[in-house]
Amino acid sequence: MPEKTQQRIVPLIDQRGKPHTIPVPKVIDDGQLQANGLLSDARGRPLRDLRISVTDRCNFRCSYCMPKDVFTNDYPYLPHASLLTFEEITRIARQFVAHGVQKIRLTGGEPLLRKNIELLIQQLSSLRTTDGAALDLTLTTNGSLLTRKAAALKAAGLQRITVSLDGLDDSVFRAMNDVDFPVQEVLDGIEAARAVGLGPIKVNMVVKRGTNDNQILPMARHFKGSGVVLRFIEYMDVGATNGWRMNDVVPSAEVVKRLQQELTLIPLEATQPGETAQRWGYADASGQHDKEAGEIGVISSVTQAFCSDCNRARLSTEGQIYLCLFASQGHNLRDLVRGDCTDAQLSAAISHIWTGRSDRYSELRGSEGSAPPGDGQRRVEMSYIGG
Ligand code: SAM
Ligand code: SF4
Ligand code: SF4
Repeated sequence: MPEKTQQRIVPLIDQRGKPHTIPVPKVIDDGQLQANGLLSDARGRPLRDLRISVTDRCNFRCSYCMPKDVFTNDYPYLPHASLLTFEEITRIARQFVAHGVQKIRLTGGEPLLRKNIELLIQQLSSLRTTDGAALDLTLTTNGSLLTRKAAALKAAGLQRITVSLDGLDDSVFRAMNDVDFPVQEVLDGIEAARAVGLGPIKVNMVVKRGTNDNQILPMARHFKGSGVVLRFIEYMDVGATNGWRMNDVVPSAEVVKRLQQELTLIPLEATQPGETAQRWGYADASGQHDKEAGEIGVISSVTQAFCSDCNRARLSTEGQIYLCLFASQGHNLRDLVRGDCTDAQLSAAISHIWTGRSDRYSELRGSEGSAPPGDGQRRVEMSYIGG
């Protein structure tokens, strides 16, 4: 049955769970609690990557993320006063960086819809890791506003960018974004990003069986040799509104197999621990990696869990820290920063939250896609905590 005629009844309620309240650490022994970049969680995983959602709104309605029938004009989007200000975000980010974060990704919703996002980028780009290095500062966007914004983002200090693009065929792409947005404008956005030196550029394609899997090969052909790294993402059971079914997932192994029918790919080593994508390089005639032709990546969040080295924390638009993409509750940092807590207390709170982390949803998910036993609460939406 075509996807658009399927009937689903999704109650229109606020998807955001009630956050854990974090007691403000009262007594701080600086000697003991000083951040030293070495924080690790209950499973020994370090804290390296912070994803910051800057808005819960988006101008697209991708069916796997913000289905149109749920995210209507009446949806209870966050009021402006609930959003963390840029100063609050930077203050929180500074403490995360002191605890070991090396990479910050801005996301959403659609991050380029947040007014004056360049000012936040400017503030974040001045932060330094515990080794004194610049942060790896990046942003994930649907690309719709990139032609207009690329130069200002670069000037503000953004280093690179990831663009989501689910197909090259215009009708397939318009159906995926579900707001009839033309593919050419996103391709122009990618060119604009390249022209101003935002690189290396990554392109993310979520693959949904029967919807855009016929775009796997055209996308690979298009980006081969372009310097853009194309990554295929397994459609995930994130949130509670997208009507996810295991049958809609195209496993990464199948994606690679389909590509190999036409293109010669060899596996490449991971560049860093905690990397979500498995890398495959295009091979030359002698079977070696042809660097000019480039590489692709596959992100197997469903069929091959990578929780064991997951080093990512997520800061929601309204200041909740989520320890897993599939969590139903966050930890309320906004109340701390809007209260009278000191930076040392904020740092101690982050330390307390991360050291207690044991999340590993994907590892516990059944091989057939069944959800692990949880706390019975609705999982938070991707558009709220970002991808
Ligand atoms: N709006 C921006 C965009 O689309 O790039 C940033 C936010 S979006 C939530 C971040 C990433 O999550 C996108 O690459 C998107 O394709 C991906 N995503 C959203 N829902 C997903 C799902 N159910 N499974 C896999 N990836 C998903
Ligand atoms: Fe918007 Fe990105 Fe979600 Fe698509 S994936 S609806 S572009 S937030
Ligand atoms: Fe990390 Fe949670 Fe994804 Fe596992 S399921 S990789 S813990 S975000």
